[in-house]
Amino acid sequence: MSVNGPSDDPGSRDSEAPDTGPLVSVTPWTAWVDGSCLKVEDAGQWRRPRSFDAKGPAGLLEEDGAPTRPVVSFASNDYLGLTADPEVVAAAHRALDRWGSGSGASRLVTGSRPVHAELEAALASWKECDRALVLPTGFAANLSVLSVFGGVGSHVFSDELNHASIIDGCRLGRAGVTVYPHGDLDRLDALVGRTPGRRIIVTDTVFSMDGDEADLAGLVSLAHRHGALLILDEAHAVLGPELPGGTASGRGEILRMGTLSKTLSSLGGFVAGPKRFVELLENRARPYIFTTAPTPADTAAALAALRIVRSPRGANLRARLARHVDRVARHVGRPGHRSPIIPVVIGDEADAVSASSDLLALGLWVPAIRPPTVPDGTARLRITLSSVHTDEQVDRLVSGLARLGLGRPGPSAGGDRGQRSDL
Ligand code: PMP
Repeated sequence: MSVNGPSDDPGSRDSEAPDTGPLVSVTPWTAWVDGSCLKVEDAGQWRRPRSFDAKGPAGLLEEDGAPTRPVVSFASNDYLGLTADPEVVAAAHRALDRWGSGSGASRLVTGSRPVHAELEAALASWKECDRALVLPTGFAANLSVLSVFGGVGSHVFSDELNHASIIDGCRLGRAGVTVYPHGDLDRLDALVGRTPGRRIIVTDTVFSMDGDEADLAGLVSLAHRHGALLILDEAHAVLGPELPGGTASGRGEILRMGTLSKTLSSLGGFVAGPKRFVELLENRARPYIFTTAPTPADTAAALAALRIVRSPRGANLRARLARHVDRVARHVGRPGHRSPIIPVVIGDEADAVSASSDLLALGLWVPAIRPPTVPDGTARLRITLSSVHTDEQVDRLVSGLARLGLGRPGPSAGGDRGQRSDL
């Protein structure tokens, strides 16, 4: 009898199974699924989504077997709080009224609406590129760009802390891949220099679990010197870093990937770059071609948000966010930290989980991030801030952290706004 079932053993592929007659369907799927679930449970890593009834950072969090709990979230990527902005919401309503709920087909079939082209033109202008292409998610944007440019015959150099969608994009493209030590441009220079062929360097510009920034000036000049294509994932780059000199000629080839789901408060992703590079994506990227176009309402919301981001109001929102970041970063001993992702590294997984639940008991939702999302021994609280957090909410966060012995109480957010160093 031949029993073909799932296996972790790559040696048990169908083609290598002995030919012992017709297949009998005794697939051990249930046992495999139970075992796989148990492995996650035994590692203490079992998760499920908890619904959060909220518009903005304050709302009601679903609790296991208990009434909902009022909490303030420090876990969202809605960095400028535009998901609830009346102009953004009204733009989505107008798009719904004009074009209906779904786009009904992929962009190259009949899914394109005028609002898609309008958003792409606005994104291209924002990113100082010839063209931009909108995709259903940022994840799909990274899969697209890396599968098209990182095909057989290319070699990708990827920072070790890059986002999962970059890692999966590299797998999909089947180029050679070298993972370089986080932010180590000397090592990257040496590695790229001794690799022939079409080279790609890909990096987050703000790393999603540490909130630190890539050295963009260094990367641009390194890539240019080697003739390598530079792919930048700017998903979290609401407060910078900026690309030095934009994408003006003489800077080499650069593709700028981003998401519509964080600063732009909607859902979707994009890639901006030189015209022919983006046209190639439009004609070759399977996560663009074989999927339904983003909905008109999501697209219109992102366009309205982008207009705010580029206006004086957007500058005010960023300044307010930067003040919150400064205050919390000083409190946790990271003066000068610029991005709205602020890690508080605790180390032990159980300690990080218990710190997160202690904060929850105080009405503060700050998730614990554990291996395998972050390296062993670096379990942490991950705080994300938004310009719509009130000063009072940030005060509560700071004093909650202080009660747990994390950081030191500093001046209140409504006071001198952390102009002096607390540590
Ligand atoms: N890149 C980075 C750095 C991200 O953090 C994320 C989302 N967390 C993505 C890409 C994917 O973006 P999206 O959520 O739009 O799929």
